[in-house]
Amino acid sequence: MKEKPNCFFMRKIEEYTKKIESEEYRRYHTILVVFYCLSAVSLFMCIMNIVTEKYELAVATLAFGTVTLIYCIVLGIIKKLNLLSYVVTSIILETFFLYLVVHGGTEGFSAIWVVILAISGCITFGLKLGSIYNLAAILQLVFLFFFPIGQRLVQADYTHSFLMRFPILYTTASVIGFFLEVSRSCSYKHMLGLKNKFETAMNYDILTGLHNRTWFNTYVEKVESDISRGDTVGVLIADIDDFKKINDTYGHIKGDEILKIIAQALDNTGEFTMCRWGGEEFITIVKNYTKKDFSDLAERMREKVNKTEVNIGGNKISISIGISWVEWSEDFSLAKQIHLADDGLIMAKRLGKNLVCSLDSNIAVVSEL
Ligand code: GH3
Ligand code: MG
Ligand code: MG
Repeated sequence: MKEKPNCFFMRKIEEYTKKIESEEYRRYHTILVVFYCLSAVSLFMCIMNIVTEKYELAVATLAFGTVTLIYCIVLGIIKKLNLLSYVVTSIILETFFLYLVVHGGTEGFSAIWVVILAISGCITFGLKLGSIYNLAAILQLVFLFFFPIGQRLVQADYTHSFLMRFPILYTTASVIGFFLEVSRSCSYKHMLGLKNKFETAMNYDILTGLHNRTWFNTYVEKVESDISRGDTVGVLIADIDDFKKINDTYGHIKGDEILKIIAQALDNTGEFTMCRWGGEEFITIVKNYTKKDFSDLAERMREKVNKTEVNIGGNKISISIGISWVEWSEDFSLAKQIHLADDGLIMAKRLGKNLVCSLDSNIAVVSEL
């Protein structure tokens, strides 16, 4: 089993990469990271402002740093985003934006910090909301810098060049942020598509649509780790009789068609997952069936296949089935149960096929011989 990393940050990154497929989770973490950064920078700037004796700015950065830190802690507790958290996030960022642009800080330099919002807007809030925020911010800049009412509100002594260049800088950063998010979301969708295709190819059999052997191996591990006192486990392996002859007589394409029909018939017999184990062999593991219900299920499957219409000139298809059944005990081994079911299948073939057999001492031969 893969060991968990010792380092706290590596553990967090591993946790994050596991859940990153959820856009909501990614957005929540992006907001958290943006706010932690804003908080850390503000508190650091607060110290810088005290050292440079800019006390008004020191109070503002301390207040902003504290509010954002508290907000990060609250977000950390609620662990997800809701409408209220979007509203609070927007209010805090708008306050940050207006304060820095209106006040200007040290020689008008503080306004430049708001460019962070232009770049991170779309990545944090998504293309639609992020673009609306960025557009609103650009309009506010135009209002504050170029309209007389807005100009009266601005306290900073910005130079003419700054007033001309800064909205262009902000717009450029917004456009870059927009395209970064377009590229990220396209790659994300592509990655999800590939992941789905890969998982389907990994876990499903392309011909029958049933789960395949790779999936089954993982399922075996899951059943083994989930099973506990009081549970029962039944293993059933089914194999189509004389399938080679069918291929030889009717061709492989007809053989494929029959495989599909039989696979679906077996899968639709009850509430369990039938897997294609190999060529014309199928396997399933069922939990908590009584011994009788389990052997009845196997018999029902055998009869169902006998009655399934496969259109091969009146000839019938049959399957042989091997089963094993056990109640949980300390030395429970699923590998052993699978072997037992396989031995039952071999016995069913030897005894003449179209039978359900078991060599498991727990459960006797089922079909009438
Ligand atoms: P038995 O009753 O003893 O099981 O005889 P059988 O002929 O069914 O078994 P055997 O193992 O001799 O042959 C299995 C055949 O299944 C041979 C192989 O060509 C065929 N087979 C396996 N996978 C596929 C498949 O995907 N499509 C088709 N058409 N045939 C397949
Ligand atoms: Mg066969
Ligand atoms: Mg076989």
